[in-house]
Amino acid sequence: MPRISKKIIFKSLKGMHDILPANQVLWDKMRQNLREVAGFYNFLRIDMPLLEDAQLFEKSTGQDTDIVEKQMFVVKSSRGDMALRPEGTPSVARAYLQHGLSHLAQPVKLYYEGPMFRREQPQAGRLRQFHQAGFEIVSSADDPVYDAQVMVACVRFIESLKIKDLSIRINSIGCKVCRPSYRKKLVDYYKPLTKSLCDDCTRRLRTNPLRLLDCKNDNCQPLRGSAPIMLDSICANCSKHFKTLLEYVEDLKLPYALDHHLVRGLDYYTKTVFEIFTEGIDFALGGGGRYDYLIEMLGGRHSPAVGAALGLDRLVEVIRLKDVNLRVKPKTKIAFVHVGNLAKQKSLALIEELREAKIDVIDFLGKESLNAQLSMANKLGAPLSLIFGQKEALEEDIIIRDMKTGSQETVPLKRIVKGIKRKLK
Ligand SMILES: [Zn+2]
Ligand SMILES: [Zn+2]
Repeated sequence: MPRISKKIIFKSLKGMHDILPANQVLWDKMRQNLREVAGFYNFLRIDMPLLEDAQLFEKSTGQDTDIVEKQMFVVKSSRGDMALRPEGTPSVARAYLQHGLSHLAQPVKLYYEGPMFRREQPQAGRLRQFHQAGFEIVSSADDPVYDAQVMVACVRFIESLKIKDLSIRINSIGCKVCRPSYRKKLVDYYKPLTKSLCDDCTRRLRTNPLRLLDCKNDNCQPLRGSAPIMLDSICANCSKHFKTLLEYVEDLKLPYALDHHLVRGLDYYTKTVFEIFTEGIDFALGGGGRYDYLIEMLGGRHSPAVGAALGLDRLVEVIRLKDVNLRVKPKTKIAFVHVGNLAKQKSLALIEELREAKIDVIDFLGKESLNAQLSMANKLGAPLSLIFGQKEALEEDIIIRDMKTGSQETVPLKRIVKGIKRKLK
């Protein structure tokens, strides 16, 4: 008996989206602006693999973080677990060590852009496959000037997309020296309140108490109002670092606000943490911080570093929500219009000649009617149409039509490039 197969209609997976051709113009623009901003501030491009050893993230992002605990897409293999990267920083640190980038002139400034994966509940600003652009600076000193440079690169990139009313929320979460005592203060404050905490926070109180400050649960949120403030507990070194950073940020005239509850959910952060918001939108456009011990944790020398990542899908969403007009238009092309079989037959070779002469054309070789082709040329906003018919194919010439005025001129094929360039002027 033949098996009766049920028709399956495939759809992309939850939280994973196609980026269709109509949207690619905007994505191209974002990537181009990213290249320009990164280029200006001398960040060099790095691309890392999508799959990494899962232990890389367990060791760096942190075993007790939501990202590693709940959100990683893990691929089993006989050589151990691999993970689809949930973020870029651990991979950058791994690459820095693997390729001996510490031997380059310091600081090493890198940027990347590409998809990341987290098994989250999809909602506004949260996808399971999302795209991030990141800036990272690794150096031999923890100079706050680098924190400021990462911030300014992020802000200038977002501004280049005409997104306004930005605000950087900044906090310091201290260092190895001062954080343990703050941690203790925090635990002492929350312990008597355990009954009011959500399950996650009850657990975090043991594993990662700083995270209680950014719990979104309705019961937990009001409690943080009276919680001890990190800035009151940081050591002299961290305090000086933070003050100097704020001076730089003020000199740069970057809009910022202190946020005592900002901790960010990753284990490797020290001192500076920040997130960037735009008015009227709940989710952060991006964020980052300093990670002075990450490279050491992965087996390298002490290499203080700072970085940030921006959510490109979030920027696209903000552009849509705020109705930002970026005036991005697809490149206009010259229309190649053919009539009749002989012309069609000679067209492919002729188009190759145009390509070699760097004349950008769009053809309609699957269409027959002259009118249909001209109307498509009009719709695409082509400034010129090249009309190649039976007569032209025989006589080795072509008609150049100005689509605005309708004026036409016949030129020999040999002089087609000159003819086009003259008309375009
Ligand atoms: Zn400190
Ligand atoms: Zn909670």
